[in-house]
Amino acid sequence: MNNRDTFFTLQAQTSPHPMGIEVSRAEGSYIYGSDGRAYLDLISGIAVSNTGHRHPRVTAAVKEQVDRYMHVIPYGEFIQTPQAELARKLAEILPPGLDNSYFVNSGAEAAEAALKLAKRYTGRRKLVSCIGAYHGSTHGALSVSSNENKKYHVRPLLPEVYFMRYNREEDLTLIDEKTAAVIAESVQGDAGVRIPDMAYMKTLRKRCDETGALLILDEIQTGFGRTGKMFAFEHFDIVPDILILAKGMAGGMPMGAFVSRKEIMDTLSRDPVLGHITTFGGHPVCCAAAAANIDVIRDEGLVNTCEAKGALLESLLRHRGITEIRRKGMMLAVEFESADLVSKIVDRCLQRGVITFYFLSCPESFRLAPPLNITDADLRKGAEIIRKTIDDVLGEAK
Ligand code: PLP
Repeated sequence: MNNRDTFFTLQAQTSPHPMGIEVSRAEGSYIYGSDGRAYLDLISGIAVSNTGHRHPRVTAAVKEQVDRYMHVIPYGEFIQTPQAELARKLAEILPPGLDNSYFVNSGAEAAEAALKLAKRYTGRRKLVSCIGAYHGSTHGALSVSSNENKKYHVRPLLPEVYFMRYNREEDLTLIDEKTAAVIAESVQGDAGVRIPDMAYMKTLRKRCDETGALLILDEIQTGFGRTGKMFAFEHFDIVPDILILAKGMAGGMPMGAFVSRKEIMDTLSRDPVLGHITTFGGHPVCCAAAAANIDVIRDEGLVNTCEAKGALLESLLRHRGITEIRRKGMMLAVEFESADLVSKIVDRCLQRGVITFYFLSCPESFRLAPPLNITDADLRKGAEIIRKTIDDVLGEAK
C-alpha cells in the first residue's frame, strides 16, 4: 500500500478534507512535496516554525543531543544539561516573577497543568475564561475553550468554569474571591486574531490582584516573537502569574512549558508530591532544540524585524475583496464576506503552492503566520498569489 492509501485507510482522519500533501522535505519557508512541488508555508505549521523549517542551528542542537542521550527518566528527577540551559534562557528573556519553568509536551498539557497549579496554590475551584478562547483539545483545556461545537459531544467537562467576553472591562466583575484563575490568550488566535486594548489588559491584571485570582496568560501561539515582542504580554505592560508556552518554542520539536514564580510552583512538589507528572515532558532533545531556537530568535533579531515584515505583508495584501485584516506582528487574520469564499481561497492557494489555513472559530477569515525569518521576496510572492487567487475566486462567484 502506498503512503497516500495508508494515510486514508490506516491513519485516523481528523476531517473529511485533509490537505493531503505528501511531504518529502522542508527547509526555511518551504515544504516540498514528494511530487517535487514547493509550497510556501505562510502559516509556519500553525505558528510553530517561527525560525523556519529545519533551522541549521536547531537541527545541529538536536543531532548533538541525540548523540549524547535521549530519554533517561520522567521529568523532574535527574539534572539534565539541556533542561537547565533552557530554564536559564527562559529566565533571561522573561521578567522577574516568571523564573521557574516546568517543561511539558504540548500546549494543551501546559494549559492543564497551569489550571491545576492555580487550583492548588489558591485552594479555590472557580475558573474564568474568555469567549472565543482556544486552549487545547484535552478535557481540561477544552473546558476553558469556548467553541461549543467542539465541546457538546464530550460533556461533562470541568465544573465551575465561567466565560466572560474578551476585551470587555465590564465583564471583569465575573472574577471574584472564589476564582482560582483567569485564563486568557494575550492575543486571541483561533477567534481570528483579536487584539485586546492596553487598558483592558491592565484592568484584567488589577482585578486579579484585587481578588487573589491567578492570571494565566496563554502565549502558546503568540510567544517567541510572533507578535513583534518576544512575548505578547509585553505589549500591554503587564506580567501574568503563570505563562503557558508551546508551538514556536522549539523550532519544530514538540515542547511546551508553564512558567511561574518559585513560590507558586513549589505547591506541585508537596502535599501530595508530584502535582504534575509527565514521562516525556522536558525531553532533552526538545529542550536542546528550544534553547537553540531562542538563540536564533535573539541572534537574528527576529523580534525586531517582525513588525516591519508583518506590515509589509499587510500592505501587499490590500484587495477590495478583503473586508478586514487584523494583525499583530506576523499574526494575521484576513477576513472576507463569507466562509465559503475563505474555503475556496485557501484551497486554491494550496493548489498554487501557497499554504494558508482556517480558524476553527472564525470561518470568515483565514490565518497567516509566516516564519519570522521569511524573506521579503517570499512575502511578495505569497501575497501576489493570494491576491490573484482572490481575484479568480471573486470573479467566479459573480
Ligand atoms: N492555546 C493556544 C492559544 C493555541 O493556539 C493552541 C493550539 O493551537 C493550544 C493552546 C493547544 O496547543 P497544542 O495543540 O500543542 O495542544
